Amino acid sequence: MTAVESLTDDLEPLTAEEVLADAVDRFHPRLLVATSFQKEASVIFDMVMKIEPSVGVFTLDTGVHFPETYETWKAMEDRYGVTIEGLRGPRPERLWETDPDRCCELRKVIPLRNRLAGAGAWVTGLRREQSSERRGTPKMDWDHKHGLWKVNPLADWSERDVWRYILANDIPYHPLHDRGYESIGCEPCTSPGAGREGRWAGTDKLECGLHGD
Ligand code: SF4
Repeated sequence: MTAVESLTDDLEPLTAEEVLADAVDRFHPRLLVATSFQKEASVIFDMVMKIEPSVGVFTLDTGVHFPETYETWKAMEDRYGVTIEGLRGPRPERLWETDPDRCCELRKVIPLRNRLAGAGAWVTGLRREQSSERRGTPKMDWDHKHGLWKVNPLADWSERDVWRYILANDIPYHPLHDRGYESIGCEPCTSPGAGREGRWAGTDKLECGLHGD
């Protein structure tokens, strides 16, 4: 068994809070939390703020999010008294209509890569049940694409687990979840739908290119 496999196995029985606390112990201040303002991000943000509020939190500000996404951004900052860093890349007009892969690369993939350079680990809200592509998500693994550790505390959480935590802790969440949007990205590329079926609906595109090798 490799060191990466051993670490991944060691973390599997831990709760989400324990995985996050372990990541803070190992990596802070070289730990970064990525937030998309979706329901999973609300959970992780709340947990991190309770463990170590000085951990850096960022979002990919593509400039074409729903107004409700920007409202949720402000609500999270107000609730916890912190600033969430917005990462921005080039934003060619309406590139999503002609070349969505290039659009994601410019607005998301490159700003993310630049921000993660030099960090020790990053935290995401990936869950195994979100899609077949995410079914094998470990709680922590080496991110070959970006050259650092990737921590997924909610990997084994169900949709119900997420909502139970949000309601029990009375934390802000994205209002579009109450209007039929289970997964929320940029406004031009997101429709209402279950799971990730509302993302790039009608095309064969499934991911932005932020995750995977
Ligand atoms: S999700 Fe759509 S608008 Fe957002 S970066 Fe990707 S292609 Fe562009």
